[in-house]
Amino acid sequence: MKIAVVGTGYVGLVTGAGFSDFGHDVTCVDIDPARVETLKKGEVPFYEPGLHDLIERNARLGRLHFTTQTAEAVAGAEIAFIAVGTPSADDGSADLSYVMEAAKQIGAALTTFTVIVTKSTVPVGTAAKVKEAVGSTAKQPFAVASNPEFLKEGDAVNDFLRPARVIVGADDPQAIAVLRELYRGVLRTNDRIQVMDIPSAELTKYAANAMLATRISFMNELSRLCEVVGADIESIRKGIGSDPRIGNKFLFAGAGFGGSCFPKDLRALRHTARAVDVPLGVVEAVERANERQKRLLGERVLAHFGPSLAGKRVAIWGLAFKPETDDIRESPALVLIEQLRAAGATIAGYDPAAMDNIRAANTGIELAKDAYSAAAGADAVVLVTEWHELRDPDLDRLKAAMRTHVLVDGRNVWPMADARAAGFTYYGIGRA
Ligand code: NAD
Repeated sequence: MKIAVVGTGYVGLVTGAGFSDFGHDVTCVDIDPARVETLKKGEVPFYEPGLHDLIERNARLGRLHFTTQTAEAVAGAEIAFIAVGTPSADDGSADLSYVMEAAKQIGAALTTFTVIVTKSTVPVGTAAKVKEAVGSTAKQPFAVASNPEFLKEGDAVNDFLRPARVIVGADDPQAIAVLRELYRGVLRTNDRIQVMDIPSAELTKYAANAMLATRISFMNELSRLCEVVGADIESIRKGIGSDPRIGNKFLFAGAGFGGSCFPKDLRALRHTARAVDVPLGVVEAVERANERQKRLLGERVLAHFGPSLAGKRVAIWGLAFKPETDDIRESPALVLIEQLRAAGATIAGYDPAAMDNIRAANTGIELAKDAYSAAAGADAVVLVTEWHELRDPDLDRLKAAMRTHVLVDGRNVWPMADARAAGFTYYGIGRA
């Protein structure tokens, strides 16, 4: 099949490279010429495990192309995916301007019947607006469908190749048939495609993110109670996670969730619900709990040293919003940096992948070449992102490197008893 993918961020690139790997002829288009140049050189503009090889192989085999021209990508395509960003607008709603612009450009570029598929996360009712936008410029027949994306940054290629399910929202039989055919290769072992009406498909994506975020905020709130009543959130996590009705995923108490999806999608869902006068109290509480949680690590440091951190040096281990990505959007590390800086601390940071993004964000922190260089002379080391290489610190080495021996483990992964036995003051989340 000939496929166009509009937008080459995490979703667009993984989608484009993924379908080309199944033998389809894919052209990815992006309005950012620097990004397209990078891709044409065989480089990936962000860190995502496995993606470079997938792109390199399929570009070499001549079935994955990159362009800045929507017309070039869309001409003759049977399917055009919209995979552009839907950031938060000032009022919390999803800013659909990129989606609408893409829709108009696709409409103007149609040369044959094309199924236009929204992969971006968009509020209920967007498909109808996309249809109108495409229709305003199209001279060919087309159908619109929704196919929200559920990939996880850091494991996106695997998620594409082995999706738990594929959601298709469509009412046009031809669109459904084309999407079933497209996904046949990916879903060969198990037909995990779920076809539903478009509003349900659009809302399923928000419901999934809201449910996952709810589990995290629930555990984070509970962890605060644990600290006061002398319980350990890690024991509770294992206790409830082994209940098959609950399951053990997304139950880690920590530094709060960030990233390019959960926070903005919760805001957008809240906005949608309020606009129709059905406020979602649970979702709003999840957001509030998360805002509070993102301040917890900074508060731990301030509670230990007092309100002024002048003359203190704090090392931050992990800056990305989660391991295996270089994405720092809404990372708890950014909140921590702000709190520490406001209190006058000197800050050194280290992350295995996110250093370029932190540099570009001009946070003003010192950037260390590795975790132990960041800890040199530090009064406290704070773990924000539980990368493999940061999970099991060499306590002797840390002891020798640091000036004052305070560890704040924002992910409950460091060996608490060993750290205390070695003379560190250890703070976790929800642990006595
Ligand atoms: P991103 O911001 O990384 O990339 C979007 C790209 O689209 C940018 O490169 C931008 O230049 C390009 N673009 C914007 N307008 C364009 C146009 N008219 N024509 C061509 N290119 C255009 O975005 P992302 O993280 O890939 O997310 C895309 C969508 O998918 C969002 O709605 C997001 O919520 C959703 N989503 C993201 C993830 C994730 O993990 N990142 C997972 C599931 C769903």
